Amino acid sequence: MSSYDYDFFVIGAGSGGVRAARIAASHGAKVGIAEEYRVGGTCVIRGCVPKKLLVYGAHFAEDLEDCVRFGWDVEGKAFDWAKLRDSVAHEVDRLEGLYRDTLGNNDVTVHDCRATLAGGHEVALSDGTSVTAKYILIAVGARPHVPDIEGCAEHAIVSNDVFKLDALPKRIAIAGGGYIANEFAGIFHQFGSKVTIVQRSDTILRGYDEQMRDRLMQISMTKGIDFKFNSHFKKVEKQEDGSLHLTMDGCEDMEVDALLFATGRLPNIEGLGLDKLGIETGERGAIKVDEYSRTNVDHIYAVGDVTDRIQLTPVAIREGHAVADNLFDGQDRTVDYECVPSAVFSHPPIASVGMTESEARNKLGGSIKVYTSDFRAMKNVLAGRNERSLYKIVTDANTDRVVGIHMIGPEAPEIMQAAAVAVKAGLKKADFDNTVALHPTMSEELVLMR
Ligand code: NDP
Repeated sequence: MSSYDYDFFVIGAGSGGVRAARIAASHGAKVGIAEEYRVGGTCVIRGCVPKKLLVYGAHFAEDLEDCVRFGWDVEGKAFDWAKLRDSVAHEVDRLEGLYRDTLGNNDVTVHDCRATLAGGHEVALSDGTSVTAKYILIAVGARPHVPDIEGCAEHAIVSNDVFKLDALPKRIAIAGGGYIANEFAGIFHQFGSKVTIVQRSDTILRGYDEQMRDRLMQISMTKGIDFKFNSHFKKVEKQEDGSLHLTMDGCEDMEVDALLFATGRLPNIEGLGLDKLGIETGERGAIKVDEYSRTNVDHIYAVGDVTDRIQLTPVAIREGHAVADNLFDGQDRTVDYECVPSAVFSHPPIASVGMTESEARNKLGGSIKVYTSDFRAMKNVLAGRNERSLYKIVTDANTDRVVGIHMIGPEAPEIMQAAAVAVKAGLKKADFDNTVALHPTMSEELVLMR
């Protein structure tokens, strides 16, 4: 008999924590999990899932424009934000229920409490009780980072707040040029808001292939989204009519109805009790872990955004799964961070796997070959939408191996998931060439580039 209340106690019921808890329980461990807010975490409650539903909602704006050339005449078009917001909220409620069911069906005990490390093997819960566990997993995620600028804390919103807005802003400024800024710029623009992206540097989506970023910027500007580069906020003031006056450095001052900060996410370590156990943190407060997601304290592990390795849901899930398999099924699993595909659900979306052209040039000493296809999707041609897609394959010129694929265009993320298998498997460009095209599709471009 164990002398602990639990074999495994997970702090945080987001993607990584829930997976770890469920798998540990399926291996026979006695598992508890604590969640201070809602089961499902960022991805399900206020991130990937509700955001993607808003992206779908936003797409109808374009579809309703484009359908005319396809013979449709839709009378009385109108958009009701409250209706979409509430449908999304209901879907999130449903998914939270499913997550809770999964935990329950696997005999994981859910504590709806904030949990903090109390020392040794003990975890203190906000209901005044405490529990002990042989192993503890920290999976508390990250939160939006808002720089310390006068008036920001009171008047700016973050992505979490978008899902609760009473009304859509007529004019919105979005701070940041990353995933969230570009995704929400597309969403708000399609819903009719005047969007201005304000970026501190001179580029968006750092880390993505330069040509894809340029193409997104060009399409976004053509649509009417404004970009202010090398610009900073100095002060945010609320005016009598409820609008915000933004005092800027690097561009002209602005009047907007909402200001959204999307300037990265910080690990959620405040008040967690890391100091009580001497758990080491690194840059930006991320919990330091080894390849098994183990902290410097032997029985304590951490996965997901709180470790700031790759802040993506599927990565957190893999990390949590591996911890559970290693601790309770005697496996020796680590997570492979090579070739993790990613996507930006902008309008149109970008998807990417492997090295960008410039990364490949640096890593492979310049001996690379680059193939591109710059085309207008058939549907866009008939619709009269002057929006071109761009696909790029980067290969190692010495081996012919495909080391990176980058795409911007309709459904790029859906296409990329399959293409990523080929890149991960180390296939060569010749393997792509040998594959017969599936016609007529956009993805056939991947096997037709010469
Ligand atoms: P990102 O890291 O993608 O982008 C942050 C942006 O904010 C960058 O443009 C950065 O500029 C800028 N920035 C950073 N710090 C400051 C500062 N102090 N002042 C002004 N600007 C600043 O962060 P997001 O918030 O967009 O998203 C957070 C994370 O969530 C992402 O990294 C991603 O991992 C995840 N995510 C994934 C999604 C997906 O998979 N589709 C969707 C949404 C989020 P610079 O380039 O100069 O550094």
